[in-house]
Amino acid sequence: SKVLVTGANGYIAAWVVRTLLEKGYAVRGTVRSEAKGTHLKKIFADYKDKFETVVVEDITKEGAFNQAIKGVNAIAHTASPFHFKADDPQELIGPAVNGTLSVLKSALNNSAIRRIVITSSTAAIISMLPDRKVFSEVDWNDQAIEEVKTQGKNASQASKYRASKTLAEKAAWDFYKVSNTNRSWDLVVLNPPYVFGPLIHDISSPSALGTSAGDWYNSVVRPDMGGKTIEAITTVGGGWVDVRDIALAHVLALQKQEAGGERLLISKGEFVYQDFIDVANALSPSPIPSHTDLPKGSPGAGKEFVPKIVYDPSKASRILGPELVYHTIEETTKDTLADFERRGW
Ligand code: NDP
Repeated sequence: SKVLVTGANGYIAAWVVRTLLEKGYAVRGTVRSEAKGTHLKKIFADYKDKFETVVVEDITKEGAFNQAIKGVNAIAHTASPFHFKADDPQELIGPAVNGTLSVLKSALNNSAIRRIVITSSTAAIISMLPDRKVFSEVDWNDQAIEEVKTQGKNASQASKYRASKTLAEKAAWDFYKVSNTNRSWDLVVLNPPYVFGPLIHDISSPSALGTSAGDWYNSVVRPDMGGKTIEAITTVGGGWVDVRDIALAHVLALQKQEAGGERLLISKGEFVYQDFIDVANALSPSPIPSHTDLPKGSPGAGKEFVPKIVYDPSKASRILGPELVYHTIEETTKDTLADFERRGW
């Protein structure tokens, strides 16, 4: 069967496409311009008959996906802005919400489509609380929506992004509920935290890295470039998951009957960057022989850090099954550094 992957040139999406192709699916990837599909065609040249791209210039337009969805049996919707540079929160909220609704609307009355998976985020789950809390699929980040509503442009960058993800996911579930008579598909939503790991999409330099991979590079490899202090490296973190695992989770979410109608939090565990730095320095042989100056930070300090936000990913493991085995921090660190080394970064 054939899967439409939106925003196929993105960090996560390129891995979703690759995993789907490796598992025998045909894939149509949407990109915003022909040029953004060139690299994908190159890396998936072995799958010439099974991989194609289609240009969807503006995902927020009514009917934007009407052509793109023809002949597909499932959709993975990943396209959404992820950056901390928005002035007006609508720069993020507009494409996040309207892009999602546009995909779902195009998929109505199309009986070939059996399932839609949306890449949401733990951004749509967490809130900043004074005490430690274990978050799961029952939690919603109404706090970010509220902050953006009351503070507008003055809301924090993190809250602007988090509000966009929360509002987009809420819009998806609301639409799903009211459209239950004229759709043949069900919906699965995945909620990953920070996604790290090697890149296969088109990135020419470290400064062009996306938000999560860029933050990892600026913390674990070049904290001097990222302006990261020891304090930031030892006390600021979150949850993380390897990009290859969240990609596999997208495929499993398309396959598992029981996933239909579910929200699934996908997380390997909590981290501060010091944890990755310690692992990077302990790897032997070093995957980056050309670097003799890996930062040390404050070795071991990560072990003393008690995260306030903790994730419970047990529901996803139960529903997606034993095939979802998370990469370890050692594996992710080694493969990411080896990838950077190959690129001469
Ligand atoms: P990337 O920035 O690498 O990819 C984002 C994709 O979305 C690109 O294809 C991009 O297209 C497309 N996109 C962005 N803005 C728009 C827009 N206004 N209109 C149309 N397309 C747009 O990000 P990631 O791979 O990291 O993120 C993919 C998804 O995963 C997003 O939904 C993100 O919220 C979510 N996510 C990411 C996490 C992470 O740590 N990376 C964690 C949790 C969730 P173009 O290249 O043309 O800009």
